[in-house]
Amino acid sequence: MNQTLLALANTSQTYRKMLNLYWSTILLTVILEFAIQRLHFQVSPADILPSLIWQAFLLALLTGGVDLLYRYRNVQSDWLLIMMGILYASSIIVMNPTIGIVPAIFIFPILTSVLAFNRKRIAGVFFLVLVSFALLYALSSPLRHTMQPMHMIGILFLYTGTTVIALAITSSGIELLNNLKHATEAKQELLVKNIIMDTLSKIDALTDVYNHKTFHEYLEKLIEQNELNELSLQLAILDIDNFKRINDTYGHWVGDIVLMRVASIIKETVTPHDFVARYGGEEFAVIFTEKTLDEAHRLSELIRQRLFVTMHPELNSKSVTISIGLQEYAKGKGKEALFKGADASLYAAKRTGKNKTVIHSFPQDVMPSISPGFVPKKAAE
Ligand code: GH3
Ligand code: MG
Ligand code: MG
Repeated sequence: MNQTLLALANTSQTYRKMLNLYWSTILLTVILEFAIQRLHFQVSPADILPSLIWQAFLLALLTGGVDLLYRYRNVQSDWLLIMMGILYASSIIVMNPTIGIVPAIFIFPILTSVLAFNRKRIAGVFFLVLVSFALLYALSSPLRHTMQPMHMIGILFLYTGTTVIALAITSSGIELLNNLKHATEAKQELLVKNIIMDTLSKIDALTDVYNHKTFHEYLEKLIEQNELNELSLQLAILDIDNFKRINDTYGHWVGDIVLMRVASIIKETVTPHDFVARYGGEEFAVIFTEKTLDEAHRLSELIRQRLFVTMHPELNSKSVTISIGLQEYAKGKGKEALFKGADASLYAAKRTGKNKTVIHSFPQDVMPSISPGFVPKKAAE
């Protein structure tokens, strides 16, 4: 069985539980044997106790050794547990050789081997049990005397039957764990696919910045945040100048390359607190957060200047320019007013010669309007 299946079976906890079971079995063995000797053979406690104490001592020594190996060396060997089980069973048979049913105790090591989820191991334990029983039979004359042919057939039938049941349990256990493993893998794959799909649905395929829909979702959340806290918020709309001419002159595929390059310059220029999206066509939007209007303006200008000096080999080493409309969010004014302000600034930038950043600001108590309220504060070139 492979490691994943073993991990699913959580063998470490099982091993500890098995060791605890062996410890309690020592006590049970002593009580059981004391009861048998007292009630069945009427032996006096003084005659029984020394041999029982010896047996318990030897079993405790054996279990203690295996337990210490587990605790301090992290040894987890199914074979150690199985051998321990066989020695436990052998000691009980040696102590009670005249009771014909006692060799049945060997079914316990066979059942213990089920925990390894390994058919070969069960077959190995079955073989070990047969060898141990044969050895005990050969060495103990009281046992030989007790085990009549009918007893022998019954015992061998019991060992074989238990082994067959152990094999059947193991087979269905392996099948169950395999199903569980496949189900877990399928769930993980689905999770990864969902994350990829989720990311893809948020990103613009050409420019690798956020798309229009995600931009609106994010902006709404930020506005909510702004209404609750003191989060500063500015919106910049950036529109490439004369882009139609680039398409017409150099072809759409060159236009696409320029769009990609512009997007990556915008992304590289803003801070990790800002949000870049392709608003549509050759228009981008940047939401600045945790900045003053001056800082947002400085970054917008930096984008514009960087684009101005970026030469595009596809455009015969010419650059493209961009116009930017910037608007700060005013508490309580809403998303629409923010947009109208940024749009009005962009329109002003275009109308007054392009390749510039224009800031729009509303007087405190007046509702936003496009043309009259617009005040171009700063225009480069
Ligand atoms: P202005 O300076 O006033 O902004 O002029 P403009 O030419 O940039 O603006 P206009 O709105 O007239 O043209 C925008 C062009 O952008 C038209 C459209 O073909 C082009 N466009 C929109 N989306 C894409 C795209 O994904 N790839 C390419 N190559 N072109 C696009
Ligand atoms: Mg446009
Ligand atoms: Mg344009």
